[in-house]
Formats: sequence, structure tokens, C-alpha cells
Amino acid sequence: MNEPEILIDLLEKKQPVVAMLAPSFPIVYQYPHIAGKLKRLGFAYVVEVSAGAKNTNSAAIEILKNDPKARIITSPCASFVRMIRTKHPHLKQFLGFAADSPMVATARIVNEKYPGHRAIFIGPCNAKKLEANEDYPELEIVSVTYKQMKDVFDHFQIQDEPNDKNTKFDIEEANTRLYPISGGLAQSSLVKDLLADDEIEVVSGWQNCEQALKRFETNERIRLLDILFCDGGCINGPGIDSPLNTDQRREKVIEFWKKGTEMTFFTTIKQMLAGLSKSKI
Ligand code: SF4
Repeated sequence: MNEPEILIDLLEKKQPVVAMLAPSFPIVYQYPHIAGKLKRLGFAYVVEVSAGAKNTNSAAIEILKNDPKARIITSPCASFVRMIRTKHPHLKQFLGFAADSPMVATARIVNEKYPGHRAIFIGPCNAKKLEANEDYPELEIVSVTYKQMKDVFDHFQIQDEPNDKNTKFDIEEANTRLYPISGGLAQSSLVKDLLADDEIEVVSGWQNCEQALKRFETNERIRLLDILFCDGGCINGPGIDSPLNTDQRREKVIEFWKKGTEMTFFTTIKQMLAGLSKSKI
């Protein structure tokens, strides 16, 4: 069975499943409708993969902070990791595997919070399937692309439904929603406070990967190579079916990130004010 068939089988058998939605989703879906649509399909919970990306960031920062000589090539891009393994095995030692990819980190959160549920990654990339099956078989992640999800929705005849608007993510994280844009890790972590500009290199596009690796090998000053195989990052992943160009896709992701961070800001202010008024009583 391929991945969409496995998912259809799980849903038909009413097995408990959790949807892990990659942060590129605003390119193809609207929030909050998509959370409701996935629940009508049969998902018990819907969580953002940006929640796991937060753990990815913390782990990467720890590595760089604890060892001033540490140098990392980021590993969330499954295609790039495979390129290193096959064409540049001597660079494997630099892959930041101590920091789980956002998909893997989110699956660990799901396993802890929702025991007995199967983690289903919905995202822009076919290669994540390889990462799930070859690198982390013990997590039993099923990885499907947005394109493939269309067939799954069609199979169960689940349509868009405007009344789903009040459905929310069960786990959300606004700060790391920029992850699918090239440089997302460098932007959303505190790495810029830790490293100088010339110690960080951000690269995207398969045609730029070889040169970037040469620079990483020859310039030991570079401590973080934040690299994604698709041009512009995961926003141009092969599992996305969208008429939008790269700028429009980037804009969609930024817009959703802004909405979330504004809400976080206002929620914090509201909580602070509530705390203040309680302390006066
Ligand atoms: S950059 Fe492309 S190949 Fe790499 S993880 Fe993202 S979508 Fe997949």
C-alpha cells in the first residue's frame, strides 16, 4: 500500500489518527476551515508542525551554544540529507540530527500527548516519506502530500464547509510558522543573537547546494548552513498544487505567521492585564 492508501485504510477502520499540518499549508488551505475539514474526515486532533519546529530550533541552539566549535548543516530537508549521504558522505558528521526535523519533533509531541494515535504528516514533500520510513520507522509516521490529500478527501467525499470556521488547532505555535521559507530556521530561532552574520549561511535551490557545500567545507567560519533543496524553501515543494508564484506563496505563509504572532501578543497583554486586576483584588 502507498501512503494515501494506508491513510484511507486507517480512516475506514476508524483508527485514531492525528493530522500534523506542515507550516506551508496556508498556500493550499484556509485556516480554520482546514482543521474542521480534517476532523470531519476522521482525525481526532489537528496539530501544527511548527510546534515541533520550536523544538528543532531549541536543539540546534543548544548544540551551537554548548560547543563553540560546533558546525551544523541543517537536516529538516529530507532530499538534501539524502544528497549528503550519497554524494558527500564525509559531511554526514555535520548534519544536525541531534536536532529532530520539525516533522519528527512533532510526531514525538503527538506520541506523548495522544498515546495510541498514529501521526499523519501532511505536507509539501514526497521525500518526507523516506525520512519517516527509513530514518524513524519506530515513530510509524504516515507522510502524505497536499496533492495526495485531495484524493483522500475525494475518496470520502469531504467537501469544504464554511461552518467549520470555529475549529481550532489542538496544538499550535505561531513563532515558527516561517519555517517553510528559505532561512526559516535562522529567522525563527535565536541563532542570530548567538552567531555573527558571516557564521550563518542560508541557501535554497538544488542548483545552489553543491557550491554551498564547497563554501561550508573551505570556510570554517560558517557554523550554521541553513539549507533547503527547493528554490525558496518548502513553499515550492513538489507536493504542492497551487497556481501561486513564489512571492505569493511566501506572502501567504508570512500573513498567517503575522496573524498568529499578533494574537499571541494580544493574548499575552490580556493575560497580563487579567493578572494585574486580580492582584489588585
Ligand atoms: S525543501 Fe523541498 S525537498 Fe526539502 S523538505 Fe522542503 S519540500 Fe522537501
